[in-house]
Amino acid sequence: MKKDDCIFCKIAAGEIPSAKVYEDENVIAFRDIAPQAPVHVVFIPKDHVLSSADDITEDNAKIIADIFVAIKKTAESLGLENGYRIINNCGEDGAQSVKHIHFHLLGGKKLPERIV
Ligand code: AMP
Repeated sequence: MKKDDCIFCKIAAGEIPSAKVYEDENVIAFRDIAPQAPVHVVFIPKDHVLSSADDITEDNAKIIADIFVAIKKTAESLGLENGYRIINNCGEDGAQSVKHIHFHLLGGKKLPERIV
């Protein structure tokens, strides 16, 4: 399922170029265009099944497990053996800018202990 006005759907469809670092049947991951750490990768479901974490239910939650498995594999392949951070911004107060659920993988340096 693809939403025509969604930038991440266009990336998943190959209509907008991206620096892809991971792909499987359901998930793709690409370098964030405005990196906030030496390694900053965005993981998305290929299909626009969820707009935000607020849409997760018992019935559709498997894709979240798929994404976390993809994150773990990618962290390993990118050499983040010393640790990393996973972030999901949800909704207006969470400062989510792209309404296609995604998780940020950040690492490659000691990250700040606080975000506010
Ligand atoms: P969020 O603010 O959590 O919705 O995250 C959206 C992220 O997508 C931001 O970190 C943006 O820098 C990133 N982003 C937006 N457009 C692109 C793009 N074309 N390629 C890669 N990353 C993008």
